[in-house]
Amino acid sequence: MANPFDLRGRVAIVTGANTGLGQGIAVALAQAGADIVAVGRSMPADTEAGVAAAGGRLLWVEASLETIEPVARIVEEAVAGFGAIDILVNNAGTIRRQDSLDFTEADWDAVMDVNLKSVFFLSQAVARWWALNARGGKIINIASMLSFQGGIRVPSYTASKSGVLGITRLLANEWASKGVNVNAIAPGYFITNNTEALRNDEVRNRSILDRIPAGHWGKPSELGGAAVFLSSDAASYVHGAVLPVDGGWLAR
Ligand code: NAP
Repeated sequence: MANPFDLRGRVAIVTGANTGLGQGIAVALAQAGADIVAVGRSMPADTEAGVAAAGGRLLWVEASLETIEPVARIVEEAVAGFGAIDILVNNAGTIRRQDSLDFTEADWDAVMDVNLKSVFFLSQAVARWWALNARGGKIINIASMLSFQGGIRVPSYTASKSGVLGITRLLANEWASKGVNVNAIAPGYFITNNTEALRNDEVRNRSILDRIPAGHWGKPSELGGAAVFLSSDAASYVHGAVLPVDGGWLAR
């Protein structure tokens, strides 16, 4: 029987794949057989090495997702490079920390533009390519615990990640009948640049660890399996779902 998790012959766009969770996802998808189109601002050299070690190919599309200006080009370059797009992982994200009383418009826009606006419009560009070519595919959005909880001192991040969960459901409703699976992964607390400030704060670090049933911060490699599942035929009837990968955080 064919392995339903097999991604050989599939092409996956992963945004923000040069580091952190995006790197973990890209390498896991390559280990399952996919070729990777890595979208981001910096050359993803380490990720390319991980993908090559898994026997995959990586194409870097240099783009900043601060605006939606590059979305059409991302689709064009992916198709020109690898012939098709099967999977889109909207992973690139940013965060600004400041008391809400002092939070600026610039910090609001910077986070909302990358974390929410570009996620929607890149999904739209890829789904238009699928519609034009009479085919479907998989979209996986990277949500957060702050898609469910309020957080503290990160108002635009919480708004953006709560929004990511909303548009995941909306797009699933609109596109499920077109053969497009739109789902989200909600990572708990992982060791990446994004959480460096929290891990360096002894008090916050302790209180976070005390709440994680697994007892440790997640490693980016621990997120890959969920991305492989949602990218694969095994998830063909999964639509509009959010899969927490959080060491049990939400169960507390
Ligand atoms: P990270 O190591 O800081 O990675 C963020 C990635 O997003 C980097 O590749 C970064 O590229 C890219 N990015 C940021 N702004 C960009 C822009 N304007 N244009 C293009 N790419 C941009 O953090 P991470 O933790 O792996 O974050 C990945 C995703 O997981 C984010 O959506 C984050 O919100 C989410 N998340 C993380 C955690 C966690 O515990 N770490 C928990 C929940 C959700 P550059 O290197 O060029 O900046």
